[in-house]
Amino acid sequence: MASYRIGIDLGGTKTEVILLGEGSRELFRKRIPTVRDNYQRTLQDIEGLVLAAENAAESGPLPVGLGIPGTVSRKTGLVKNANSTWLNGQPLQVDLSAKLGRDVKVTNDANCLAVSEAADGAGSEAEFVFAAILGTGCGGGVCYRGRPLAGPNGVGGEWGHNPLPWTHDAQLNARPCYCGRSGCQETFLSGTGISLSYQLATGRSLKAAEIVDLWRQKDATATEVMQAYMDQLARSLAAVINIMDPDVIVLGGGASNISEIYEQVPKILPGYVFGGECDTPIRQAVHGDSSGVRGAAWLNPF
Ligand SMILES: [Zn+2]
Repeated sequence: MASYRIGIDLGGTKTEVILLGEGSRELFRKRIPTVRDNYQRTLQDIEGLVLAAENAAESGPLPVGLGIPGTVSRKTGLVKNANSTWLNGQPLQVDLSAKLGRDVKVTNDANCLAVSEAADGAGSEAEFVFAAILGTGCGGGVCYRGRPLAGPNGVGGEWGHNPLPWTHDAQLNARPCYCGRSGCQETFLSGTGISLSYQLATGRSLKAAEIVDLWRQKDATATEVMQAYMDQLARSLAAVINIMDPDVIVLGGGASNISEIYEQVPKILPGYVFGGECDTPIRQAVHGDSSGVRGAAWLNPF
């Protein structure tokens, strides 16, 4: 019988399913908008996507992996840390496993990114991959020898809600975060963070992509904001390197499309990494937006 894996990426704005066949070939994919603030609907929608993938495979029940913008507590079995806040406190893994009649593997979406890129992407030659999502929010995940390292607290690699290192208190306090603290890296490094940086500098509200465009047109304020962004990103990644020194750092999410990152951040990193040297490759996720959903499928390795 052919070997299939189903991956689901439960995002804040869209929910996607993928069906991978042998050789990690993509055989089916479907994306629907995420209905927010409705947990029962979330379960139904995931079930519908799994059934659609199994129809496409003409096979089932198939192994299912799910990436979520949060994590499942090992202690309570409940979701925590999700910026899709209607998931928090819910026994998602248990409910979904019951609904689908099989053990569903659930992990953080940044772990999925790390697993996907370690499997057949930007970290495919690496043993130890740190991956960060620079999207609407900002998450991090770790993959070691093909497996996510969620850790006993489920927060392995989760660096988005650490304060930005080497930063003045006034700058940290200017950025309250939904998690209850201020100055989290997410409030600087996400697309939303870029918008906030520009807003704090100008009082004007623009999307991250618009600010990047202005920067490329040599607009002075946008240049200041984006130069600061490169330094902020380097600082936050230097802290990761100082703790775990991964073989490669892979970036995903909307802001990872800013190509200047891969030229500028490696030059800034040695100034912040202990010992003053840093050769760690910083790479864009090969599978782009698909890394999360592919990684979810890879939670059940072939
Ligand atoms: Zn936070």
